[in-house]
Amino acid sequence: MEKIKMITPLVEMDGDEMTRILWQMIKDELLLPYIDLKTEYYDLGLKKRNETDDQITVDSANATKKYGVAVKCATITPNAARMEEYDLKEMWKSPNGTIRAILDGTVFRAPIIVNNIKPNVRSWKKPITIARHAYGDVYKSVEIDVPGPGTAKLVFEGKDGSNIEETIHEFDGAGVLQGQHNIDKSIESFARSCFNFALDTKQDLWFATKDTISKKYDHTFKDIFQEIYEAEFESKFKDAGIVYFYTLIDDAVARVMKSEGGYIWACKNYDGDVMSDMVSSAFGSLAMMTSVLCSPDGYFEYEAAHGTVQRHYYKHLNGEETSTNSVATIFAWTGALRKRGELDKIDELVDFAAKLEKACIDTIESGKMTKDLALLTDEKNPTVLNSRDFILAVRETLDKLL
Ligand code: NAP
Ligand code: MG
Repeated sequence: MEKIKMITPLVEMDGDEMTRILWQMIKDELLLPYIDLKTEYYDLGLKKRNETDDQITVDSANATKKYGVAVKCATITPNAARMEEYDLKEMWKSPNGTIRAILDGTVFRAPIIVNNIKPNVRSWKKPITIARHAYGDVYKSVEIDVPGPGTAKLVFEGKDGSNIEETIHEFDGAGVLQGQHNIDKSIESFARSCFNFALDTKQDLWFATKDTISKKYDHTFKDIFQEIYEAEFESKFKDAGIVYFYTLIDDAVARVMKSEGGYIWACKNYDGDVMSDMVSSAFGSLAMMTSVLCSPDGYFEYEAAHGTVQRHYYKHLNGEETSTNSVATIFAWTGALRKRGELDKIDELVDFAAKLEKACIDTIESGKMTKDLALLTDEKNPTVLNSRDFILAVRETLDKLL
């Protein structure tokens, strides 16, 4: 078979630890033999980030703005232990946070479904994609430990000299206080990313807040979504045969539990944090969860939802065998290749991405899988493969499909 040609390079963001090992295996076994792979390579491994004072992360995000599509390997977010382990100059920020800030994007997480691992919620048949607003609310709040009796006020001092004041509470004794904010511009970007992603994946979009209780704060989210929908997306949604609907968060939770799946659920920051963990664990494994950052301007960055699988990496360094699941990382590549193929009108690339995804699913459904899935499957005698052998098994399946 002749190798598939590419036109525009993908922005390739390499990463850390076990996922960095898988990254190379995936390229060597599943991509390079079939594609004349064109990438602009950025090493976001912690060592390189430290050497470049994290400039490499900024450069990779800017490259994503230039080319439009990136694929990212999991990376270490430094903490105190990593400062020592990597002898870091500084506790560099999370690359995902830096990239998201530059692209102004929203993260969409979706499970990869196989027929021999049943979701804990019996009605779920199709993936539920969670979109989490990634700015503000409790994550950028200020808090006060109220020591004793007194008055708490919410004050806004306008640049124009205006003054708005509300009494929050007259405290009789000790208590707690929290001040949250969000900004229209960020909510608008979030809304546009959600509507665009729904169109891109041809799935309905649900959005829910607690606007009955929060008549200004949450209601603003509801109103902004509705205004942008009517002004920019309503007719496009009709043409695509998909639906946008808003409901109260309580109602959304109840509907989700009874649904079949197959839609996008947009959540405010905190709801998205909590609900994405609930949805991913109910679907099975973090190792079967994909993640894509979609910007309001239409840039895409694909990755696995899990981290660098540190514990497996140390086993690997000790020369021990690992059975690390590469599926979400493979799907990061297929997501990016499919998008690149669509943008550059390379049908072979789109077709290859679909076949590689099918090869992963078929391999698992034939009973060959990594250890994390073997613990979840209802397959009687699954064949547990090590990290490399699983990738080789996928290659064998892929060769039959091509
Ligand atoms: P993690 O790498 O996701 O791993 C947590 C545990 O989940 C693993 O120890 C493993 O369980 C299981 N697991 C996750 N992915 C797996 C896979 N592909 N195959 C098999 N098992 C898998 O999370 P973490 O240990 O909390 O974080 C490690 C590093 O990743 C940290 O430095 C963190 O900063 C970074 N991180 C990066 C990203 C990102 O780049 N997007 C996201 C999250 C975390 P067992 O050990 O029981 O087998
Ligand atoms: Mg969480």
